[in-house]
Amino acid sequence: MARPDFDVCIAGGGMVGAATALALADHGLRIAVVEPRGGARWQQDVMDERVSSITIASWRLLVRLGAWDFIQARRASPFEAIHTWDDDGAVRFRAADIGEPRLGWIIENSLLQTALLEQLQLRDDVEMLAGAAIAGWTREADGLRVRLSDGRRLVSRLLVAADGGRSAVREQAGIEVREHAYGQQGIVATVTTEQGHGGIARQRFLASGPLALLPLADGRTSLVWSADDGTARALLAMGDAAFAEALADGIERVLGAVLSVTPRLAFPLQSRLAQRYIGERIALVGDAAHVIHPLAGQGVNLGLLDAAALAETVCRGVAGAGRRDPGRASVLRRYERWRRGDNRRMQFAMDGFHWLFANDDPIRRRARNLGFQLTDRCPPAKAYFMRHAMGLRGELPALMREPVSAEC
Ligand SMILES: Cc1cc2nc3c(=O)[nH]c(=O)nc-3n(C[C@H](O)[C@H](O)[C@H](O)COP(=O)(O)OP(=O)(O)OC[C@H]3O[C@@H](n4cnc5c(N)ncnc54)[C@H](O)[C@@H]3O)c2cc1C
Repeated sequence: MARPDFDVCIAGGGMVGAATALALADHGLRIAVVEPRGGARWQQDVMDERVSSITIASWRLLVRLGAWDFIQARRASPFEAIHTWDDDGAVRFRAADIGEPRLGWIIENSLLQTALLEQLQLRDDVEMLAGAAIAGWTREADGLRVRLSDGRRLVSRLLVAADGGRSAVREQAGIEVREHAYGQQGIVATVTTEQGHGGIARQRFLASGPLALLPLADGRTSLVWSADDGTARALLAMGDAAFAEALADGIERVLGAVLSVTPRLAFPLQSRLAQRYIGERIALVGDAAHVIHPLAGQGVNLGLLDAAALAETVCRGVAGAGRRDPGRASVLRRYERWRRGDNRRMQFAMDGFHWLFANDDPIRRRARNLGFQLTDRCPPAKAYFMRHAMGLRGELPALMREPVSAEC
């Protein structure tokens, strides 16, 4: 067979696919990114309703990939504390208690994606194939012959599925998923409140699901209200004034009145876990591998960990004479061993929180109350949860370890 066109072909130029391409760049590999939408660009004058809470580990990755300056020059909101409570108890996490300036950042998804894609444009070894999806592939001796939906064809040694929760690549590769619906919808919008957010992320656990207000750079907050399907339908059917009132009540008016809310978007919440992260010359990253409940804001952070871990494994695997093949089974197995267990533990924890909080059962309420009290009064337990929320637990890829030097 002739030399493949690419060493790595990435399906999906979303946040995780773009980060994977950047992390692989500058290592002597030829990389293609296939993205059907191609043009989801950030706009200065419109706040994207989709935002992500970004951990310190993910922030380090963005700095090292060269995307952070672009983000910071536009809009990023640090948060220094998390207040979380329900009817029976409360915990306040403060970065200062563990000697840190912040716990993470809130960033618009479109800004994150745009910053990564801007960096990709500067790399000679990355080719963006926009406006087409992966349509299928056949196997060849040392690569996959990949068909794009617009008729283009390419041969690549490795195909990375970064094509989201409904990954067509995962499905065509015959990789099974274990999935279940949470029976909730995530309602998102941008909210103007009477009082400022003070750099605090707030989350109240209601019996119908968690309601979060995340601090934004322009002083507003981003709403993520995970409500059971019936409640969500009622909330979506309300007029703006009634919804603002329901929201102010839901968050117990901790920021005073709700003055305005942008149009609401809703996403059905699912749990999905791929039973394998790899196939023959195929690796899954991001939501293609795992979709978790958004209550702890960890989904894309796990995907960025996958991106950095896969890039590190591949780059180590191809270093040295005669080892040019990034799609070798031994390389991919190392990646799967590294990431699958970690992601499964996080998914298990999210499902546990969901089970514990999303109801009024008296025994679970008592367990919650006890958990809140113990955590709030025990500094080591608090520090443990904060380091988890900052993404600083487990085996971090080199791109996410200290030290990082950036103005912030
Ligand atoms: C309400 C809500 C709130 C959330 N909040 C947070 C948060 O605060 N923090 C956090 O970490 N996570 C959060 N998440 C999760 C986070 O949004 C996802 O984990 C993240 O978007 C996944 O990114 P991805 O790049 O893996 O997938 P996607 O964002 O789905 O991107 C997939 C890309 O693949 C492309 N594609 C699709 N099909 C093909 C194909 N056949 N060929 C090629 N390309 C294809 C698509 O066009 C798209 O660009 C939240 C999720 C929800 C629903």
